[in-house]
Amino acid sequence: MNAPEALTELIAALRCLPGVGPRSAQRMTYHLLQHDRGGAARLARALDVALGRLTHCARCNNFSETELCARCASSQRDAGQLCIVETPADLNRVEQTHLYHGLYYCLMGRIAPLRGVGPKELQFDKLIARACDGQVREVILATNFTNEGETTAHFLAERLRAHGLAVSRIARGLPVGGELEHADTGTIAQAFQARQPVV
Ligand SMILES: [Zn+2]
Repeated sequence: MNAPEALTELIAALRCLPGVGPRSAQRMTYHLLQHDRGGAARLARALDVALGRLTHCARCNNFSETELCARCASSQRDAGQLCIVETPADLNRVEQTHLYHGLYYCLMGRIAPLRGVGPKELQFDKLIARACDGQVREVILATNFTNEGETTAHFLAERLRAHGLAVSRIARGLPVGGELEHADTGTIAQAFQARQPVV
């Protein structure tokens, strides 16, 4: 006996979420329809509104309801520093340190040759144009320390330097509260390489 079409379609639709396979999609569907119809209606409305209203900020490429997001439009930020991150979540993490007062550019991804994501897909030209606005003094590469994040950083550093921009990379090392005994050797090696004079 075939399941109702609306049911199979919802299960199939939920599978567009990262990490959601057929079994969890089925579980989510039953949960929404059986136990949380209010939550399901809210989700449907929120998706509809978000798709209709959100676009990418013309300067930082992060999600925004306006052409320029509030941060890019603010006069309180240092327009001389541009920090490049992979995702809006990464941007929020840097912002939470309250140490950085410059502006951002959100790549919305990373170079991943195996998945067919290259400089063109990530619209590097848009980023280069943004970085060459005449105000940026330093570009800070804050992509992740994964293979793909490193590849992205190397590629970007080359392109940005070719345009005469000063480029820096966030340092690697031990986490706050980290103990050498429990850190992996790769992290300890990187912490040594990125050591700084004691002031
Ligand atoms: Zn912005």
